[in-house]
Amino acid sequence: MPRNPRRTPTNDPVVDPVIVGAGSAGLSALREVRRYTDDVLLVNDGHWGTTCAAVGCMPSKALIKAENAFHRRGALEELGVRGADGLRVDIPAVLARVRKMRDGFFKGPESTPDKLGDRAVSGRARLLGPGRVQLNGVTVSARAIILAPGARRSCRGRGARSATVS
Ligand SMILES: Cc1cc2nc3c(=O)[nH]c(=O)nc-3n(C[C@H](O)[C@H](O)[C@H](O)COP(=O)(O)OP(=O)(O)OC[C@H]3O[C@@H](n4cnc5c(N)ncnc54)[C@H](O)[C@@H]3O)c2cc1C
Repeated sequence: MPRNPRRTPTNDPVVDPVIVGAGSAGLSALREVRRYTDDVLLVNDGHWGTTCAAVGCMPSKALIKAENAFHRRGALEELGVRGADGLRVDIPAVLARVRKMRDGFFKGPESTPDKLGDRAVSGRARLLGPGRVQLNGVTVSARAIILAPGARRSCRGRGARSATVS
């Protein structure tokens, strides 16, 4: 929470805006907002590394790259390259590479709280109403609240076949 924020008559701190969620969407919103103001509060529940860099798009592509390389062994014979039958996947080595790359991917977003100082808040935001949000027990007023909380997959019922994104 900023040290000396503006206050409403009821003594709530005022910031403009509050961004809820520090994933790719929230960080992108932050970049835009900071072109106009530093009076921003970024709230994030959990790890600051973003879904994309920590467990999503980026590490999955690093894993798929190894899979694709192995898959291409089937085309080698035709090219006159012999011995592809002997290739094998060393799963621990594949995963060690993915994890090493992943640790590099999320270094940037993970350092967001260090860069933003008291403008970054770790905790779960709760919307109270228009322009009012609760952060770690403190009610904050904001002219705008940008929601970027990501999504979670949810399955309905036991053994449900379809998965939805909520
Ligand atoms: C394995 C995998 C592979 C993927 N591959 C691709 C791909 O190739 N291409 C692609 O485009 N997309 C891909 N995605 C999807 C992509 O990763 C997500 O769409 C994207 O990361 C979502 O970003 P976000 O900012 O919306 O949410 P997130 O990065 O999930 O960030 C949301 C943040 O908000 C926080 N939060 C939620 N509620 C609150 C609250 N009330 N208060 C405070 N904080 C809160 C969460 O804890 C989280 O930290 C993939 C996803 C997975 C899992």
